Amino acid sequence: MAIKPFNWTCPHCDRAQVVTSINFSTGESKIWAGTIVEGDLAVCHMAVGCSNFECNKVSVQLSIRPERNRGLHGSYIDLVAPPLFERWVLPNSIAKSQPDYIPAALREDYFEACLIKDDSPKAAATLARRCIQGMIRDFAEISKGRLIDEIVALRAAVEAGTAPRGVTAESVEAIDHVRSIGNIGAHMEKDIDLIVPVDPDEAQTLIELIEMLFEEWYVARDARQKRLDRVSAIGADKKQLIADGRSRAALPAPEVKAAS
Ligand SMILES: [Zn+2]
Repeated sequence: MAIKPFNWTCPHCDRAQVVTSINFSTGESKIWAGTIVEGDLAVCHMAVGCSNFECNKVSVQLSIRPERNRGLHGSYIDLVAPPLFERWVLPNSIAKSQPDYIPAALREDYFEACLIKDDSPKAAATLARRCIQGMIRDFAEISKGRLIDEIVALRAAVEAGTAPRGVTAESVEAIDHVRSIGNIGAHMEKDIDLIVPVDPDEAQTLIELIEMLFEEWYVARDARQKRLDRVSAIGADKKQLIADGRSRAALPAPEVKAAS
């Protein structure tokens, strides 16, 4: 089936690419289960093969959707009505791979939150909150009783210019913005062990905030450090060259023996 090419990022290797008919597949199979209250249903799949040669993995989404009768023209899958079930099964988590220099405890909370987001948004949001708190404690070195107090202290540090490099007013604004959505605000004001109801969208928003902070804080700090190391290495090489030049100049001129 020919499709209109679309932009896509492989969840396995995080490589942006264009998907065409060659590496895209969809299909459906009618569910024959007698007369059921859900009406006519079909199991649908959508799959994309990664075009990055180093990855080449398949991503598959499964869904169960209503099927509508078109009379003489057969039936069609209703893509507008909400699906009864929809999930990416390969890979089985929306988590993006994270570099090793992010503390393992933070990465674990993030990966687990991604894994259980759909089945248990409440538990995912609790893990996400713990991860955000862990980041503020580790990266910004601010530790208070409640997450909300730590966010307030972080904002004050940014405004006073005492926050660590990389913690910008924008990242604090992003945390504040997320805090204003649904039950997340209440979630951040509660004790860390208290589970507050949230829906999957709210858990997803918290997960995206974590990804943004990983990127803006840890990844950016590592990139800055690597740039600095490169500049220092260039400086050290230059110093060595100058020192070598000086020591050569200080050496006595080599003796030239006359040919006998
Ligand atoms: Zn890939």
